[in-house]
Amino acid sequence: MRFLVDAMLGKLARWLRLLGYDAEYGRDASDDELLERARSEDRLLLTSDVELFRRALHSGVKAFLVKGSTEEERLAQLASKLGVKLEVDLKRSRCPKCNSPVVEVPKEAVRGLVPEGSWSRYDRFWRCTGCGQVYWQGSHWANIEAVLSRARKLASRAR
Ligand SMILES: [Zn+2]
Repeated sequence: MRFLVDAMLGKLARWLRLLGYDAEYGRDASDDELLERARSEDRLLLTSDVELFRRALHSGVKAFLVKGSTEEERLAQLASKLGVKLEVDLKRSRCPKCNSPVVEVPKEAVRGLVPEGSWSRYDRFWRCTGCGQVYWQGSHWANIEAVLSRARKLASRAR
């Protein structure tokens, strides 16, 4: 499942990438450009814009209307309607910033690239094969798990 996410749902694009999905993000794209890109790259267009959603359907572009006012609600909807898995496996995660795959790298390889405190505190690091950003399961990781856990609960209620 490959996605194209409209400009209003940038946060959702970052979540999908973390969850391992190929999610491109149409930051400055016009509606016409989004429709053309979704068609030419065979991506499912995710939008919260009813008008754009209708245009997509009329022009034969696969699209999904995203509802919900929180990330949890939106993620739960993608899980219950599209089967998106709300589990992070860093082996298949993509970079939230640029959508390139991330790979685990030896701790020694990221010395000097991450704050000294994080480097000494954590043993596992991942690096984006595109932009080079380094990731680790730091203190923010609990928040990520908490959001996903709430989203999973909402999704199971919706089923
Ligand atoms: Zn990247």
